[in-house]
Parts: sequence; structure tokens; C-alpha cells
Amino acid sequence: MDSDIVEQVIEAARRVVAGGAISANGHGNVSIRPPDSDEMYFTGGPSLRDHPAEAVVRVGLDGALREGQLPPIQAAVVAMHTAMYADQSVVGCVIHTHSPFATAYAVAHRPIGCWVEALAMFGLPGGVPIADYGPRGSEQAIANIRAAVLPGVPAVLLANHGVLVFHRTPDLAITVGGVVEEAAQAGIAAIGLGGPVPIPDDLKAAARQRAMSFLQRGVASV
Ligand SMILES: [Zn+2]
Repeated sequence: MDSDIVEQVIEAARRVVAGGAISANGHGNVSIRPPDSDEMYFTGGPSLRDHPAEAVVRVGLDGALREGQLPPIQAAVVAMHTAMYADQSVVGCVIHTHSPFATAYAVAHRPIGCWVEALAMFGLPGGVPIADYGPRGSEQAIANIRAAVLPGVPAVLLANHGVLVFHRTPDLAITVGGVVEEAAQAGIAAIGLGGPVPIPDDLKAAARQRAMSFLQRGVASV
């Protein structure tokens, strides 16, 4: 077990909890794929809150446990993570939570529209799609996720379950998880005001381009 990667997993779990895009009981899992490897480091604990380093496990992308002890509840969702790595070689981190507002959309079988700018900036100009229900981590659930996710889309709602986010780095995955939860919260709040209004299609691209141009400029200083 590479202690640096274990530490990255623990730090990512801590940041997911600190960011608040998680349900009260902390249910969820975080995994990280070390660069150029055929395995992932995965949170084997029941909650991301105060997740102990000793409960991180090492799992091959074929699903075989390589190191550590994996409880049955967590073992059942391993395939949900490994499938995301198998499908996209650029993915380095997968996060699954039951963050409350996004899960409300998942329970209502409603996708989240692109009604907050951050979704357009972070690769979700079409909003957050929803994968049909299948028992957690099952072949059916994974087939449904694959059917719902277009190339480049970094997040999907899991009907009657929660949210799955996958991105190049833990930083980006954590950010997208927070953005998805924020958009869901804003959407639900806006229902009382006549409903959320999506950003016009031509301006979604403009929002992303503007964000990218500032990123390219880097940190401004005097
Ligand atoms: Zn779950």
C-alpha cells in the first residue's frame, strides 16, 4: 500500500465532508487511481466522516481485492468505480455520495438542468444526466450509468440512490460534486419562484470560454 495515495484518499474524503456535499451519515466512497496503474485505492469504511487510513483498500480494476479488508456493503459498489476508470483513461478519481439536494433529483427521476453557471464551466453544459435505477453496483446499474453518460461528462445522478462524480484529479472531482449539489439546492429553491431557468445554449459555451481564458492567464498579482 502506497502511503501517499492512502493519504490522498483520506484527504479527499475529508474535503468532501468539509464541503458539505454529503448526507448527514457520511455515506459514500472515494477512490483514486494512481497514475498509469491498473488499480484503485478505495474507502472501505462505512462513512467518509473521519475515515481511518487503515480502512483504505487496494482493488484491481478487474474488481479483485489486492490489499486490505473490504466489507460487503462497500464491496457491492466497487464495480461502479472500476467501470469509470475502465471507460475513461483520463479519470483519476471517482466520488460517490448521497448529497441531499442532488439525491432529491435522483429520487424524483429528474435531471439537473444547466441553470447555474458553474455547471457550464465544469463540463456539464447539458446539466447532470440521470441513470435509470439498478441495484447499487450491479451490472444493470453500470449499464444504465454508461447509457446516461456522454463522453466528457463528469457526473451522473443515480436514480433512487445518489450521485457519481469522476474526473482527472481529486480536486476536480470534489469541485464538481460541490457544484452539482449547489445546482440542485438552487433548483429546488427556485421551484418556489417559478422554477429554475436554464442558461441559453450559446451563452453556456461563452461561460466556459471566459473561465478558461482566466485560467490560462493564471494568478494575477501586482
Ligand atoms: Zn450509495
